[in-house]
Amino acid sequence: MLDTMIIGAGPAGMAAGIYAARAELSHLVLESGLMSGGQIVNTSEVDNYPGLKGIGGFELAMKFREHCDACGVKFRDGKVVKVEKNEERFLISLEDGETYSAKTVLFATGAKHRTLGVPGEAEFAGSGVSYCATCDGAFFRGKEVAVIGGGDVAIEDAIFLARICKKVYLVHRRDEFRAAKTLVNRLRACENVEFVVKATPARIEGAGKVERLVVNTETGERELPVSGVFVAVGMLPNSELLQGLVSLDASGYVIAGEDCRADVPGVFAAGDLRTKHLRQVVTAAADGATAIYEIEAYLNER
Ligand code: NAP
Repeated sequence: MLDTMIIGAGPAGMAAGIYAARAELSHLVLESGLMSGGQIVNTSEVDNYPGLKGIGGFELAMKFREHCDACGVKFRDGKVVKVEKNEERFLISLEDGETYSAKTVLFATGAKHRTLGVPGEAEFAGSGVSYCATCDGAFFRGKEVAVIGGGDVAIEDAIFLARICKKVYLVHRRDEFRAAKTLVNRLRACENVEFVVKATPARIEGAGKVERLVVNTETGERELPVSGVFVAVGMLPNSELLQGLVSLDASGYVIAGEDCRADVPGVFAAGDLRTKHLRQVVTAAADGATAIYEIEAYLNER
């Protein structure tokens, strides 16, 4: 039986792996994606991780993984389908049929992209509609695109796309932005960016490929002649496995404080999955460390 099963290999899961290995806890980090890193793999630049200013998201993920490997962190590919509490232990079932038992479970499963739910979005997903500017931006070199959203991701994406696209429309439903002011100011300085504010996407249209985004504005409908639509309207927590196991808030985030303890003994949550004010790489990594510290304390209590 493992001391802890760490589910997820983003910054929170990998930081937890490093702390678990160094604390000599028997552990396994389960990763369900093609590679370690979580959301940062798709981030063009991480400018606020201390000591590594301006590092690419992919490169940062690789550094985390190299650090894990050097510390002897144990990884396994696999998608978890069920986690059950059975008296003093947890049974973790994987899609491939294998079951593990562990004294504690640390969920570090992060979050996924929210969709708009407008006509055309699903139809053109992957062929004109994208959720990752870093991954797909190059396909729209020299073309006109729209970015939807007013958070850090939308503004960062728009800055990135402005470098390679002919024109970028930044479409936001309000005229105030959640994004950091420095980012918004950088975007305002881009000559090929038009801010389309107080505008909500109505539909995405085209014959076989995206040809326009139609938005509702205060003065009626407006057609933006774009060949790409980048949706950056926030995230939804990957908390399906925890439904019925621990308490979640109204948005589906695991209710857990700074100690990362969920309301069922032995269940911990770290990173974007947990209720918190600031979801960043640095806070996810910090959670991973804290969670292992708390897991050690929990195991000692028993
Ligand atoms: P976010 O901060 O939640 O912003 C989502 C944006 O999408 C908001 O502007 C929201 O509008 C808009 N929106 C939501 N639903 C919408 C809908 N149905 N239609 C139109 N617009 C909609 O999400 P995020 O930008 O993905 O960022 C997620 C977290 O990661 C944040 O905490 C962010 O700070 C962090 N992050 C950090 C870094 C970094 O450290 N460098 C980089 C990227 C992201 P309203 O504002 O009107 O609600």
